[in-house]
Amino acid sequence: MDLKTSVDSLFMVGPAHAKKLQKLNIQTLEDLLYHFPFRYQDYSLISPIFKIQPGEVVTISGELSSIKNEYLRSGRKIQKAQVIDRSGRIEIVWFNQPFLVKTLKVGEKYSFSGKVDWFGRKKVMISPEYELVFNGKTIHTGRLAPVYPETRGLSSKWLRSYLNKLIEQLLPIDDFLPSKIKKENDLIDFSSALKQIHFPENLKQVDQARKRFAFEELFLLHLKVSQRKKVLEKSKLAFQFFINQEEILKFTQNLPFEMTLSQKKVCREILDDLDKKRPMNRLLQGDVGSGKTVVAALAIYVAWLSGAQSILMAPTEILANQHYQTLKQLLEPLGVKINLLTASHKIKNEDADLLVGTHALIYHQAKFRKLGLVIIDEQHRFGVEQRGKLIKKALGGKTPHTLTMTATPIPRTIALTLYGDLDLSVIDQMPAGRKKIKTWVVPPQKRMDAYEWIKKKVKETDEQCFIICPFIEPSETLPTIKAAKAEYEQLSQKVFPDLKMGLLHGKMKSREKEKVIEEFRAGDLDILVSTPVVEVGIDIPQATIMVIEESQRFGLSQLHQLRGRVGRGNKESFCLLFSEITSGKAFERIKALERIDIGFKLAELDLKMRGPGEVYGTSQHGFFDLKVASFGDLPLIEQTQKAAENFFPSLEKYPLLKAKIKEDTIENIEVN
Ligand code: ADP
Ligand code: MG
Repeated sequence: MDLKTSVDSLFMVGPAHAKKLQKLNIQTLEDLLYHFPFRYQDYSLISPIFKIQPGEVVTISGELSSIKNEYLRSGRKIQKAQVIDRSGRIEIVWFNQPFLVKTLKVGEKYSFSGKVDWFGRKKVMISPEYELVFNGKTIHTGRLAPVYPETRGLSSKWLRSYLNKLIEQLLPIDDFLPSKIKKENDLIDFSSALKQIHFPENLKQVDQARKRFAFEELFLLHLKVSQRKKVLEKSKLAFQFFINQEEILKFTQNLPFEMTLSQKKVCREILDDLDKKRPMNRLLQGDVGSGKTVVAALAIYVAWLSGAQSILMAPTEILANQHYQTLKQLLEPLGVKINLLTASHKIKNEDADLLVGTHALIYHQAKFRKLGLVIIDEQHRFGVEQRGKLIKKALGGKTPHTLTMTATPIPRTIALTLYGDLDLSVIDQMPAGRKKIKTWVVPPQKRMDAYEWIKKKVKETDEQCFIICPFIEPSETLPTIKAAKAEYEQLSQKVFPDLKMGLLHGKMKSREKEKVIEEFRAGDLDILVSTPVVEVGIDIPQATIMVIEESQRFGLSQLHQLRGRVGRGNKESFCLLFSEITSGKAFERIKALERIDIGFKLAELDLKMRGPGEVYGTSQHGFFDLKVASFGDLPLIEQTQKAAENFFPSLEKYPLLKAKIKEDTIENIEVN
C-alpha cells in the first residue's frame, strides 16, 4: 500500500474518524504510522490476584463472574464487577460508566490493568483498563501501553487498536534507508522500528526505535538541504541584473536617514549576489527595528533598474499593508509602481514592478512575467514548501533571486539543519538615537497602580498604548488566561471608561482589522487590546506603552518582538510585563527583559533556560517542528549531516530514498 494513501480511504476509517485524525494533523497513512506515542503506561507487571497489594499498578487476568450498576446516595452510578483467577478473586470498581455493564460479558476472560487500592475495607481495582483476552495477546493491558496525543473522540485506545491491526497488515514495509547507512550508524530497520515504537516489549526497544526515527528525520532534512543546493546551483537565473552604482546613489540619497554601517555592509553583500549569474539565496537576519525593510527596498530598486519585477511576501495582512505603505513612500518617487495582493485586496493585473502581499501571492493563478526577485519577510513563519512555490511563480521554470528576512536569531543547530542552503547576512547594529525601552515586570499587587499610570500618561499626551493578551477567548484548559475579548470589555467598562479603546485579533475579518489599525495609527484610539497578531513588524511611532498580559507564557524572543512595537519614534517608551508569578525560574526569565534589550542575547538566554525544544521545537513559534529528534542534540545533528553529505552523490541509486527527498523540494525547475 502507498504510504501517501489518504486516511479516509483506509479500512474502518469513516468520514467522522478522518476528520478527527485531521485534527491531529494526520492526513495520510504515513502520518498515521508516524503518530508516535509520547509516553508508555507501564502495565507490564502481571500478577495472580492473591498477590496484589494496594498501591501497586498491576495487570490481572481472569473470568468476569458478575457486573452490575450500583447507585450511590449522591445519585452517582458506580459499576462493580467480580473477577476470578486460579489464585483468588477481586472486586473492580468504575465510576459513572454504566455502559460497561453491557460491554463486559460475564463468563469471558479479560485482562485488567490499573491501580489497586482500598475501597472501604476491601482491596479493589479502581477504574482499570480492560480488554478481552484473545489468543493470549493484549495491546492495552499487561504490557507497555502506548499513550498518544489525542483529540476529543479519538482516544489512545482507538489509536492502539487501529495501529495494531494496521501494522500487522502492512508489515514488512520496504525500508527507504539503505542498509549501508543503517550498518554504519547502528540503526534498526523501518518495520522493526515501527513495531517497537508503537508496541514495544521493553524500554530498550523504544530507545532503538526512537534512535532510528531521530536519525532518519535529520538525515532526510540534511539530504533535502543538499538537494536544494544542487537544484539551485544548476538552475537558470530568471533575470540578469545590472548594478549601476550611480543609480543606486539616487536611492540612498533619497532616504530620510543615513543607513547604518551594518545596513551598508549587508547591502553590499546583497548587491554582490545580484551581480552574479546564479540565483541569490540569502537570509537576512537583524534584530527588531534594525532596519531590514530599507535593505529590501534597495534590492527591489535594483531589480526595477534592471527591468525585473519583485514580489514581497509577509506573513500577515497587517504587515503586508504596512510594507505596501512604506515601500510606496520609499520607491514610488523614484518611479517604481507598486501593487498590493492579499486575500481581501485582489488585483486586476500583475504587471506592477513590485507586488506586496500575503500567502495570496502563492495562490494567485497567473505567473509573474518578469519576476526577478522574491523577498520573504519573517521567513520562519513560512515553510520551505511555500518558499519553493513562490519561487516557481517565475515564468518558464527559471529561478529568481531570493532574499528571506527574519528578526529571530537562529541557533547553529537549526541553521545547519534547516537553512544549510542559505547564505547569511546579519545586521548587528541599531540605527543611532534609539532609546532603550524602559521595561518592568509588574506583579499582581501593582496592577492597579500601573493602570492609573497608563491612564494619566495616555490622557496627558497624544501617546498610545498596546495591551497584549495571549488568546482571543478564555481558554478551557487554562482558566486564568487573559483573553483579549473579555479583557477588552472589562477594561473599557471598568478601568478605562473615559478612554477610547479598540480590539484586534486574528479571527476578525481583514477589513475590520485594517479599520482598527488605521484608527489606532491615526490616533483615534488611545489603547489597542490585541492578541499577539501585532507581534510581527507593525510600526506605529506614537505608541509608547506596551503592556503584555501573562508575559510568562511567551518566549523571550517573542516578548522582545512585541516590545519592539514601541520605541519606534523619538519619545521615551515603556514596556510593562504583567505576570501572575512573582518568583522562581520562570520569573527570572522574564525579569531578564528589564536588563537586556538585544534580541540575540535574549534568544541565547531563553535557549539556556528552556532548551531548544521549548524555544524552537513547537510549530507555534513558527519554526519547524521536529517529531523525534531535537534541535538540542548537536552530536546527532552533526552525525546525520556528515552522513547525508557523504551519501548525497549516490542518491540516484536509491529510488525509495530519492522519492522521499523529492516530496517537498523545489521541483520542475529548469536546469542548465
Ligand atoms: P525591522 O528590521 O524590524 O523590519 P524596520 O525596517 O521596520 O525594522 O525599521 C524600523 C524603523 O527604523 C523604521 O521606521 C525605519 O524607517 C527606521 N530606520 C531604518 N533604518 C534606519 C536608519 N539607518 N536610521 C534611522 N532610522 C532607520
Ligand atoms: Mg520588519
